[in-house]
Amino acid sequence: MGGRSHQNHCQHFHRYICHEFDYEQFQAPSEMIHRQTSSRRRGTPIHTSSRLVLAILSLVMTDLVASEVSLGPQASSDSASVARTLSEAELDALTREIHFSGMLFDGHNDLPWQIHKLAKGSVDRLDLTVPQPLLHTDFPKLKQSGLKAQFWSVYVPADTYQQGISLTQTLEQIQIVRKLAQKYPDQLELADSSADIERIVAQGKIASLMGAEGGYSIQCSIPILQQLYREGVRYMTLTHSKTIEWADSATDQPQHGGLTPFGEEVVREMNRLGMLVDLSHVSEETMLDALDITTAPVIFSHSSAKAICNHPRNVSDVVLKRVTANRGIVMVNFMSGYIVPTERLKANPKDVGTLDDVVDHIVHIAKVAGVEHVGIGSDFDGVRQLPRGLEDVSKYPDLTKELIRRGFTKPQIHAILGGNILRVLKEAEQVAKNSKQP
Ligand SMILES: [Zn+2]
Repeated sequence: MGGRSHQNHCQHFHRYICHEFDYEQFQAPSEMIHRQTSSRRRGTPIHTSSRLVLAILSLVMTDLVASEVSLGPQASSDSASVARTLSEAELDALTREIHFSGMLFDGHNDLPWQIHKLAKGSVDRLDLTVPQPLLHTDFPKLKQSGLKAQFWSVYVPADTYQQGISLTQTLEQIQIVRKLAQKYPDQLELADSSADIERIVAQGKIASLMGAEGGYSIQCSIPILQQLYREGVRYMTLTHSKTIEWADSATDQPQHGGLTPFGEEVVREMNRLGMLVDLSHVSEETMLDALDITTAPVIFSHSSAKAICNHPRNVSDVVLKRVTANRGIVMVNFMSGYIVPTERLKANPKDVGTLDDVVDHIVHIAKVAGVEHVGIGSDFDGVRQLPRGLEDVSKYPDLTKELIRRGFTKPQIHAILGGNILRVLKEAEQVAKNSKQP
């Protein structure tokens, strides 16, 4: 990294950084510590007799609608009735069984950017094996999370483009992810493909992939896009919060009515490479243009439903229906400002929302697009405010518990947690393979 990016680190150290809109917010360390302690989960020992009950319950949750994975959650009201008959201890046990036997694969986590900001980009300066109150992600929390695979964001700010350092900084972020895998080889391993993910998860480690956020990283160059693929980047968010030379952002003035011809070329090249096209942050016109062109399923690595929270960066029902036809996926973002229903936010802009609100987005996307087209894209360590009940990575199992309460079956929950994004990645890999055949 250049000296320029180092100069403000001392004053940044006690700040919690949010880059969703390229802004930062002070957050008192005491608040963060409170969040940390309140996240501790009570252990639920499972005795032999209850193991039998659990096995039966788990089978019931699977068999009720095992053939209905592609249907919306309304199809599984039987499962909701089953869930209502359970004691809290039984529900806890069933949650653990379903959650930890699934493959939680999150679409967006900004830990690398936090390492850039809080530790001057040095993985050695931050010990992730001990609780880090300023972070949503560390290994003690991950131990409780059930996380099996992660797209680590190699985000860099939009202004790096004007400074001509967006590629350099993206490569530095990639180095941070590589160094994380080197420093913690028992917990993390880099994955380049769906086959890698399955191998690494079978070894009990977190399969680690990279996603570049903001198309300015390629500096308007297809060879740089190809270079990022070679470096291990497996998705690219076409824009961040600002409109770029070839694509409109959802949170900036549109300049192109979606994608320019070069933007279309970028999408085609991503299909050819097997790099997922990520439509989080882009304008609706850009979403629709990309959906018109792509031959592979697209992703929204961290986006929620506009019908519930009318934020320009959320996904409308019109687009959700296009995602079904495209076989793509919308991975729900947890950030308060994207999940609290519009009317409630109007009445109280400080409403941070709850885990229930996040599940409402999952339910909505499953109803409109289909349960095969929804996933999890937390945005942990990249947002300023999170809902009550989803304060850090240790809380993912509670999301599964609420999905059970809402009547989702075990196969549906496993699809939402990670099965769907793994399927999308496999299909994109197949498109790339086919395009390389003579
Ligand atoms: Zn983002």
